Amino acid sequence: MCPGDPSHAKRQRWGRPLQILGSIVPITDIECTVFNDLLVGPEIVSALKAAHFSGIDFTPVELFSTTEIPISREVYELKVTGWGGQAPPESGIKVKEECPYCGRQVFTGITNSRMLFDIDGWDGSDFFIIWPMPKYIIVTAKVRDFFLERAYSGVAFHTLDKLCSSRFHNLQTFSPGNLADWFDRNKLAELNFRARGN
Ligand SMILES: [Zn+2]
Repeated sequence: MCPGDPSHAKRQRWGRPLQILGSIVPITDIECTVFNDLLVGPEIVSALKAAHFSGIDFTPVELFSTTEIPISREVYELKVTGWGGQAPPESGIKVKEECPYCGRQVFTGITNSRMLFDIDGWDGSDFFIIWPMPKYIIVTAKVRDFFLERAYSGVAFHTLDKLCSSRFHNLQTFSPGNLADWFDRNKLAELNFRARGN
């Protein structure tokens, strides 16, 4: 609980495992929840594992119909665990507000997406996010080719420099909440280790 503003304690994500309303038959190969969580079926999980991509993890999702009846379809959340570092200030992303009580930060939006990726902050993962944009999944060209070759539906790829185009005009500010909402304990320890420059 934040003594300054109770809304700060609100988590940016749903609890896990995800329990969501789903369709009985998938509409696309890759499905997306309203919170931009990616859902995939067992065939895609096997294919991604066989390709040995790094920076992803899979957790089973429980699907329910609108009448709250469980749907017995095997679905997994594709969770990104790779780290692409913190957006450099040259990208336009800077701390706009910081709560003096809980440290929750709000960031300004992107003005130059060409400057978003700093290779020194990247852990080398094939799938990763750049802080403070945990909802934007960034992948290497190898991953993009993998998806395009297999023609999976429900996914689109854009180059990073196009992030500032009108398509993404909603990138005015970012309120990503706490890192702990997005990464598990082991990953947080690793990120702290990296942040100390070790
Ligand atoms: Zn606060």
